[in-house]
Amino acid sequence: MTEDHADIRQSVRALCAKFPGEYWRKLDRERAYPTEFVKALTEAGFLAALIPEQYGGSGLSMRAAVAIMEEIHAAGCNGAACHAQMYTMGTILRYGSEAQKKKYLPKIASGELRLQAFGVTEPTSGTDTLSLRTTARREGSDAYVVNGQKIWTSRAEHSDLMLLLARTAPKEQVKKRTEGLSVFIVEMRNAKGLTIKPIRTMMNHATTEVFFEDLRVPAENLIGEEGQGFRYILGGMNAERILIGAECIGDAKWFIGRASDYAKSRDVFGKPIGQNQGVQFPIARAYAQMRAAELMVRSAASLYEAGREWGAEANMAKLLAAEASWAAADMCLQTHGGFGFAEEFDVERKFRETRLYQTAPISTNLILSYLAEHILGLPRSY
Ligand SMILES: Cc1cc2nc3c(=O)[nH]c(=O)nc-3n(C[C@H](O)[C@H](O)[C@H](O)COP(=O)(O)OP(=O)(O)OC[C@H]3O[C@@H](n4cnc5c(N)ncnc54)[C@H](O)[C@@H]3O)c2cc1C
Repeated sequence: MTEDHADIRQSVRALCAKFPGEYWRKLDRERAYPTEFVKALTEAGFLAALIPEQYGGSGLSMRAAVAIMEEIHAAGCNGAACHAQMYTMGTILRYGSEAQKKKYLPKIASGELRLQAFGVTEPTSGTDTLSLRTTARREGSDAYVVNGQKIWTSRAEHSDLMLLLARTAPKEQVKKRTEGLSVFIVEMRNAKGLTIKPIRTMMNHATTEVFFEDLRVPAENLIGEEGQGFRYILGGMNAERILIGAECIGDAKWFIGRASDYAKSRDVFGKPIGQNQGVQFPIARAYAQMRAAELMVRSAASLYEAGREWGAEANMAKLLAAEASWAAADMCLQTHGGFGFAEEFDVERKFRETRLYQTAPISTNLILSYLAEHILGLPRSY
């Protein structure tokens, strides 16, 4: 099969070759942000892939963005540190005013501003986004005042801007349950009333808790219409699912490549372990599973590009790709025997990293319930 966007893939591979395992291991140990890697991706225009050229971006397609994320992960690097930039800006692009687009997108594209924080999840509401409690109260004509708390707001410490979803009308007062939430662009640097607390997790993800205490956000930073924010972020979330699916495909390719190489070179009982079908078959199965998921990721990206209904495919792409990467991770660890657990092989690091995608940005159960209810017409479960 010919490679989709072979030239872009080649450039991403060349860039990633400058960031080998030692680079990521050191960051992982220190739980540090990959500043140099993000800088290199920004300078090469890859992080601005989906920003149109008129706003200083690369103006590439979703399939090109998929190729970028996949190659980053297939090279053993990690795009999760910065991928938010690629899809979060979609909400500004699709629903923001011309003034907001002109103000923020060129600076995001050039790397002058980072838009890498996405504040949706809260400690009490969890997956039930419509029950979120952070409020943005209109005060006069020029500002909103935000109070509440977010959790798992990744990269908040490393981002200049946050896309925030907050309640602007009480749940009881809205006609439709999906109304009453609004999206804001929050300028985080030196903001008064904003406290960020890092959460140490099993992998290097720079995730945090964010507390808002009377944080003033200019009214001009409201995106679109007040009360319609949930709808605005859903589109962005589905784009995110495609890109996360691409990351998972990249991870799966990395695991399969590493396992195949190791199985060919590791001799036990006088022959390569890969000569045993007990070792070959899990690698072959992981490969087949990855290829099937890859088709779904590409299909979702093509539907997105064609402007056709792509929500179901985006969800299935994320589900199947996350399952494929996790199956490949487990297989790769097993193929490496004890060495799979050694830090210097990178397998245990990638294993920890790819496990996240069963849970975030949306957990497997919630995708299944979406498919059951919206595609198969089964009764609503929540
Ligand atoms: C490292 C990391 C980074 C993250 N980054 C961000 C970020 O940048 N921004 C952001 O807003 N969020 C972020 N998240 C949050 C992430 O999106 C949520 O953790 C995820 O959506 C699950 O929500 P929860 O943790 O509240 O789980 P809960 O909603 O408490 O669910 C717990 C478990 O119950 C299951 N469950 C819940 N309800 C149902 C149901 N009705 N049917 C079946 N099963 C159900 C879930 O599938 C899950 O397995 C991040 C999370 C992590 C761990």
